[in-house]
Amino acid sequence: MRQARSEPAAHAVFAAFGASSRKGLNPARERADAGVVTMATAAGCGILGLLVGSFVNVVIWRIPRKESIVRPASHCPACSATVRPYDNVPILSWALLRGRCRDCGERIPVRYPLVELACGVLWAGLGARFAGSWALPAFLVLGAGLLALSVIDLEHYLLPNRVVYPLGITCAALLGVAGVADGDPAVWLRALVAGTVAFVAFFVIHVVAPRGMGFGDVRLSFVLGLALGWLGWGYVALGLFLGFLYGAVIGAGLIATRLRSRRDHVPFGPFLAAGTLTAALWGQSILDWYLHR
Ligand SMILES: [Zn+2]
Repeated sequence: MRQARSEPAAHAVFAAFGASSRKGLNPARERADAGVVTMATAAGCGILGLLVGSFVNVVIWRIPRKESIVRPASHCPACSATVRPYDNVPILSWALLRGRCRDCGERIPVRYPLVELACGVLWAGLGARFAGSWALPAFLVLGAGLLALSVIDLEHYLLPNRVVYPLGITCAALLGVAGVADGDPAVWLRALVAGTVAFVAFFVIHVVAPRGMGFGDVRLSFVLGLALGWLGWGYVALGLFLGFLYGAVIGAGLIATRLRSRRDHVPFGPFLAAGTLTAALWGQSILDWYLHR
């Protein structure tokens, strides 16, 4: 059965709450219901995002150090004391402990609560944007993965395969499920083709200008093309263009302010991630504005 995207899930939610799901019965009421669903989804995803942010911190610390992300339990890098569950509440624990380990007093970098906050805000935004869409889980995973990759790239100048590969496989699988649930598997094929097109384009750029872009960026481009391709070809063009634009503008800014010299390596991953997330969150408005100026 073929239905317009984003409607089936929303209707299922309406039905679950006993609200009218018959179209056209009361448009104002339906709009109000949709607003409530959007807000509830955003709030739920935001809270979940704070908790997932803690896990993103674990990934950021352990993956570049080739440690397991499951075992052992979270511990202080300085004194190895296991973090107590009540000291593991996102943002709040860091604030209550005034940014220090309860056992040895070693500083806990402000990066930890910031990553948790960023993940919460990002998930709330994605929850609002994809409320009622089967693609929501895929984009939540994408958001958390891109956040982890961005921080790792800023710190270590690398995009580890141990994050990029699972991220790509999980997003592809979740979007496949979404395509079947929407009754429109062709959208999934478009996503896979878009991922491949992005990969080939980035590979060519990497071969022509290897200094600007590492092979990690080429691998990541498949994941970005995949997610953007699910939304449409306009989003693929917009998201990747914004990645290059952010990189060029901020790169030029860093050189102009002498924070970096022309020879320094500037990680590209965070810009690509930001471009893709901008397109996923606000792409429709940007494309409408661009096409109907
Ligand atoms: Zn400690």
